Amino acid sequence: MSGLYTGGCACGAIRYEISGKPAVMVDCQCRQCQRDSGTGHQSHLSFIGAQVTIEGDASNWQTVGDGGTVKRRAFCPTCGSSVYLTFPDMPDVFIVTPASLDEPSRYEPQLVSWTAAGYTWDHLDPSLPKFEKMPPT
Ligand SMILES: [Zn+2]
Ligand SMILES: [Zn+2]
Repeated sequence: MSGLYTGGCACGAIRYEISGKPAVMVDCQCRQCQRDSGTGHQSHLSFIGAQVTIEGDASNWQTVGDGGTVKRRAFCPTCGSSVYLTFPDMPDVFIVTPASLDEPSRYEPQLVSWTAAGYTWDHLDPSLPKFEKMPPT
C-alpha cells in the first residue's frame, strides 16, 4: 500500500487518488455540512497542494460560507454519495469525506468546527479542540 489516499462514491462511478497527506482533518457541525451528510456533522480530510486524479463525472451543488467562500460540493449523480469538496477561489484545496476513502480508518479528526450550529445528540470526541465557528487560520 502506497501513501496515496484513494476512494470514491458508493457505486464506484467516481474514483479519486490523492498523493500527499491531509493538512487537517475536521468534524464540522455547520448547517451546510449537516444537510450534506444528512446527520449532525460532515467530516473532512483537507489536502492542500496535493496531486489529485479524479475519474468519473460528479454533480455539484454550491454553497457560500460565512466569510463569502464559495464551496462546490461534489456528489455522484447515480448513488448520491457526497465525495469531495472544492473551492473555485482556492484551487489548491481538495477535501474528501472519510467514508468515501477505501480505508476510512485513516481519518483521524483533529478538531471540531462550528459547534455553534451543533446539536447535543451529535456527540463528538470530547477530547478534540472545539471551535464555535471556523478555527482561526
Ligand atoms: Zn456513485
Ligand atoms: Zn461545515
